[in-house]
Amino acid sequence: MTTQPRRGNRDLIKAMNRNLILNTLRGHGPMSRSQLTDFSGLSVGAVSQITSALIAENWIKEDGEGDYTGGRRQMMLRLNPTAGYVVGIKLMERRVVCVLTDLETTPLAYLERPLPNVQSPESVMNGLKGIIEGILAASGVSRSHVVGVGIGLAGVIDYDRGIVHYSPYFHWRDVPLADLLSAEIGLPVYIENDVNALTLTEQLFGAGHEVANFVVVTVGRGIGMGMVFNHQRYQGTRGGAGELGHITVETNGPPCDCGKFGCLEAMAADPAVLRYVEQALAQATPSRLRSPVTLQRVVDAAREGDELARTALARSGHYLGMGLATVINLLSPSLIVLSGEGVIAGDYRLQSMKETLHEHTFDGLLDNVRVVVKLADEQLWARGAAGLVIGKVFESPLLTPALAN
Ligand SMILES: [Zn+2]
Repeated sequence: MTTQPRRGNRDLIKAMNRNLILNTLRGHGPMSRSQLTDFSGLSVGAVSQITSALIAENWIKEDGEGDYTGGRRQMMLRLNPTAGYVVGIKLMERRVVCVLTDLETTPLAYLERPLPNVQSPESVMNGLKGIIEGILAASGVSRSHVVGVGIGLAGVIDYDRGIVHYSPYFHWRDVPLADLLSAEIGLPVYIENDVNALTLTEQLFGAGHEVANFVVVTVGRGIGMGMVFNHQRYQGTRGGAGELGHITVETNGPPCDCGKFGCLEAMAADPAVLRYVEQALAQATPSRLRSPVTLQRVVDAAREGDELARTALARSGHYLGMGLATVINLLSPSLIVLSGEGVIAGDYRLQSMKETLHEHTFDGLLDNVRVVVKLADEQLWARGAAGLVIGKVFESPLLTPALAN
């Protein structure tokens, strides 16, 4: 978005000014017309004209009078969150979870379904089509009010071109999933690496709002990272950036899903914790845990004072700290959002993570980093995917007027 559009294309300038007004209201909450004029640098006449059009098209609405600040009270304007609806999907190895949200990613309906065992693009697409139709039927929202569908999935995803370059779960290579599904369902489809989708939502609505440099690190079945530099998401060449889980932390470590050895993920993700506990139990290490273990059981046992459970989580935290120290040393973000299902381990993992961070971070860099811990359940992941569509709506200077009621 730019506030200084080139001269010469009136429609584009108009569209950009609309976009500026919409983004200002999205980013700063309700404002009066005169506050919008001051903030945007547009003329009084332009703000009046644009806001009238946006109200007529249902994008924004009048929302009571503002505080008295001298002169006459002014009507406040706010974004209309139900000007359009969005479907967000987290596509997993064997399951799909789906939310329908408004334009502020407030969830209005939620659905989850298993995926068929055959994981060809066609069969996965059928599963996606079914759940999208299911959630529209369940919510009563008509298709014409849906702005688009966002899908987050693990792997190397080209967001701009809508191509799955590599999916570790489905073993796909170069599948143009967005176009294929869009043709099936008649709605725009945006796909992105699931961690990048979560990062976008943090940027739009979460802790990363207006933060220039931050990263989102997720810990769960794997370890992933999304990055924002100078307010722009960074995805690397063909979407391959952020594979924090596959930096080497132990050269003689155990094998990783990626085919290498000693990756951070193989040492610190949830399956690594479980594997460590299972191996210790197999060697008759005293513990109240019994095979097979889950992360929740390990966390419960740690809470009850179980040494093995505490050691397994602290060990994971230690390696996580090594990984994050590398992130800080390389990128110096001002914020790290630590998220994912693995966050349920709380301080049993985070305490040793913090200690290792202090040990391995370059002098002084850690002082400027805020760490926010945020549990990502499946619904939050799906809302992250909804954020892909919303980001597109606010990013584009060419908003579709078809959304007006
Ligand atoms: Zn790996």
